[in-house]
Parts: sequence; structure tokens; C-alpha cells
Amino acid sequence: MQESQITSSEWEVMRVVWANQPTTSKYISEILTQKMDWKPATTKTLIGRLVKKNKLNTLEEGRKYLYSANVSEQESIQENSKEVLQQVCTKKRGAVLYQMIEDTTLSIEDIERLEELLQTKKKTAPKVVACQCVPGQCNCQQECH
Ligand SMILES: [Zn+2]
Repeated sequence: MQESQITSSEWEVMRVVWANQPTTSKYISEILTQKMDWKPATTKTLIGRLVKKNKLNTLEEGRKYLYSANVSEQESIQENSKEVLQQVCTKKRGAVLYQMIEDTTLSIEDIERLEELLQTKKKTAPKVVACQCVPGQCNCQQECH
């Protein structure tokens, strides 16, 4: 799994495919030239990598290739957010989420859903979250004793 992660540049390509699949490298390149100022060769390299990583499917249609996604956007977003949280001590994850929420414009509906989720979580929440870090990567354990 680790080696097949989508980089932030590749993510730009995936977004075009998710929104327009199946699509051509020409179309992906047009969008990313506008947004990122990338040359077609750059986009083609990224598409090639994504095919190798098995994130994109290739379909030959006449003289051109059509690309479609092999992984769903939803799934990939979930994987990404998990990864972000896994980089942080379990005790600090609440603060990361707090910051994310503070930095995000949320609709009333979003907020109501979050409130509901938090109410549910509150029922079974521990008083203190236990640190699960490897010693040497975190100071939590020392601070707690
Ligand atoms: Zn820790």
C-alpha cells in the first residue's frame, strides 16, 4: 500500500479524471496547464506514474487513450485524512481536528452533522487519550509521569 500512495502533483491529475472520466491526456493537460501552468510532458509523466501505480485505467479507443480512475475519490480522500492523523501522536489528534475545523468554512448542515457525531462520541469517550508513540518520537509519556 505504502508505495502506491498518490502524491500531491498526482492528486491534481486524479481530480480531473474523477470529475470527467473517461477522459484523454489532452483534456487533463489542458486543465492542468490552466491551473498549474504545467507543460503537457509533465502531465503525461504524472499520468504514466498513476497508471503504473494502478490508480488509472487505460482504454484504447481508436488512436487515442482514454483514462478512468481505478480508485474512488471518496476512498482516496479517506486514506489521505487517515494518513495525516497517523503522523501525529494520538493525544494531539484532537488539536489537529480542531485546527482543521477552525480553518474551514462549514455549512449549517455540516455543523449539525459534526455536533451530532461529537454528541455520540462523547458518550464513549475516554477521559484521557493514551499515547501510542514509539519512545523517542514523542514526549507524552515523560510528561504524564
Ligand atoms: Zn505520543
